[in-house]
Amino acid sequence: MNSNILQTPIDYLKGVGPSRASLLRSELGIHTYQDLLNFFPNRYLDKTKYYKINELQRNSAEVQIIGKIVNIKTVEQKKGKRLVAKFIDETGEIELVWFRGHKWIRENLKINTPYVIFGKTKYYNGFNMPHPEMELLDEHNKSLRAAMQPIYPSTEKLSNKGITNRVVSKMIQQLFSETKIRFYDTLPNEILEELKLISKSEAVFNIHFPKSQELLSKAQYRLKFEELFYIQLQLIIKKLIRKQKIKGYPFSEVGNYFNDFYKNHLPFDLTNAQKRVIKEIRNDMGGSAQMNRLLQGDVGSGKTIVGLMAMLLAIDNGFQACLMAPTAILANQHYTGIKELTQNLDINIKLLMGSSKTKERRKIHKELEEGTLHILIGTHAILEDKVQFKNLGLAIIDEQHRFGVAQRAKLWHKNTYPPHILVMTATPIPRTLAMSLYGDLDISVIDELPPGRKPIKTVHRYDSNRLKVFRFITEEIQKGRQIYIVYPLIQESEAMDYKDLMDGYESISRSFPTPEYQISIVHGKMKPGDKDYEMDRFVKGETNIMVATTVIEVGVNVPNASVMIIESAERFGLSQLHQLRGRVGRGAEQSFCILMTSFKLSSDSKTRLETMVRTNDGFDIAEVDLKLRGPGDIMGTQQSGVLNLKIADIVRDNDILKTARHYAIKILNEDPSLEKEKNKTILYTYEQMAKHKNIWNYIS
Ligand code: ADP
Ligand code: MG
Repeated sequence: MNSNILQTPIDYLKGVGPSRASLLRSELGIHTYQDLLNFFPNRYLDKTKYYKINELQRNSAEVQIIGKIVNIKTVEQKKGKRLVAKFIDETGEIELVWFRGHKWIRENLKINTPYVIFGKTKYYNGFNMPHPEMELLDEHNKSLRAAMQPIYPSTEKLSNKGITNRVVSKMIQQLFSETKIRFYDTLPNEILEELKLISKSEAVFNIHFPKSQELLSKAQYRLKFEELFYIQLQLIIKKLIRKQKIKGYPFSEVGNYFNDFYKNHLPFDLTNAQKRVIKEIRNDMGGSAQMNRLLQGDVGSGKTIVGLMAMLLAIDNGFQACLMAPTAILANQHYTGIKELTQNLDINIKLLMGSSKTKERRKIHKELEEGTLHILIGTHAILEDKVQFKNLGLAIIDEQHRFGVAQRAKLWHKNTYPPHILVMTATPIPRTLAMSLYGDLDISVIDELPPGRKPIKTVHRYDSNRLKVFRFITEEIQKGRQIYIVYPLIQESEAMDYKDLMDGYESISRSFPTPEYQISIVHGKMKPGDKDYEMDRFVKGETNIMVATTVIEVGVNVPNASVMIIESAERFGLSQLHQLRGRVGRGAEQSFCILMTSFKLSSDSKTRLETMVRTNDGFDIAEVDLKLRGPGDIMGTQQSGVLNLKIADIVRDNDILKTARHYAIKILNEDPSLEKEKNKTILYTYEQMAKHKNIWNYIS
């Protein structure tokens, strides 16, 4: 194949022209012949079957009928008009109905001429078909047609402008006949043979014009494999390059700070998972390449102390470290916690936030530049250009999904070589997704909770049971426990949500009156100072109940809090529910999570609630979440390429992904720079893709 032809702008295709071309560009991102070829159908209809009108079912799916129009009339209705055509075959009649585009349709439809019509039928005083696709029988018989009719993704604008499915199909047909496209094969023979894949040419043809269901399946498999293979190849190559090229600062010493802390000041025994992960981090930072590691661990699994020990290693080797958290509350908590853990070590630790006073800031800046400040903890404020380190060796980011890629990149430039990066997240990323998203990062997992934790008991209660729930709260408070009550706060309905929160707060205040009970309230509209004050009272145990929006979602640690009540739980996503639940179950006492909902629940909501009640395992929950929402909504996928997949689906096609990854690893192991003759095709394809930006920019 001549790859130049494929780069021809779409305007040059016969039947396209400037206005269609511009629509194709803006609506579908189709700029070139190649883009059009890679515009794959998202489903197929069996078009071998023609229905007779008397065979139609009242709630039929899409059907195809041969017949003719006998008359057309305009019918006035309350709003506007509708155009109605009587369409008959030898067995009966059906009304074709249009609500838009009357003029064009009236001018173009032919009476008493055989048509093939296609669409969904409805039944209301007889059968009708709104906005059918129509093709003259003569043309229909001439056109290149497949047993399985492809249905292409479309937009309202496209169908309003007459770029129907049939038109798209015709364009592709035109493309095939105009260019006689033959593809060179993008996969080497070895893979084609081992996996019994069909050729690229055959696959592309059959994806658009499948000759049979079997060929269609083969075409799909072949193209999905190819897509996933090249993504994996790219991720692995990136990782190899990073390991070779991106120099890091080797932390070769395990010195006094680390050893002293480990031997004398650890407040508890580390879990095996924590030990293993610390070892992985030590190995990474000990080498001469930069570490870029994701540390996953469920809420409460003890990531902080792992982070601290990594920072101690940095100090042992003469470097500074920083820890960045997404909220002031969290940064504060880290600061207090880490100060306490290290009180017997001679380390200078400071906290930097947006609200830090100028005088304090100056001091921090100065100490950082002089190198006398060892650990800086803070919020985004750390990223400011004014914050310059003498020798930053390690940057830790907590709760990674709150930070964008660009922000992470800023940290890279805080020293001559990029510092080692450790990203800690409590949002478990399903293995399926991790492979495609973070194939180029190293991943550590803490898959074990500290001993003595009792699994949180989760129940679902309807709003009508609120009194019982309040009684339960009373009992828990009498036992000395503290309670969270969380309200949703969704941007689109912010005003209503605040009202719900305040109403809820009032009713709780009435049921739990002062001075017997003390209640904290925290939400996003409060001044940071007030928020901190209220939070602080709860942390110190001065208040019994914390009423809040999701600001408390991330990381807050109050071991004495044993009950988490989530109001309107049906409105939260699974990962958020799991995060919230993770606020309790941090002490030795039995903890509870109560999911309050109304009676009206969608089936997805039900699945979410059932999942929460069934399991405490974050990875399990993440897999369900992925199945419910698809990868598009999972944190972190937005900036990655997984959404741009043209044909594969990383959830459904997980087996293909694994096979593709297996081959990518095998090939690169044998031939890291793809120099061997047999890998020529791969190298060429890879370079072509890179050149035409068909390889997406993955997280760096
Ligand atoms: P997360 O992974 O959610 O950030 P944290 O680091 O905040 O978890 O730890 C949660 C709680 O568990 C803290 O109070 C911490 O002191 C405690 N913890 C961590 N590791 C252990 C351990 N090995 N044994 C007992 N308690 C631990
Ligand atoms: Mg944490």
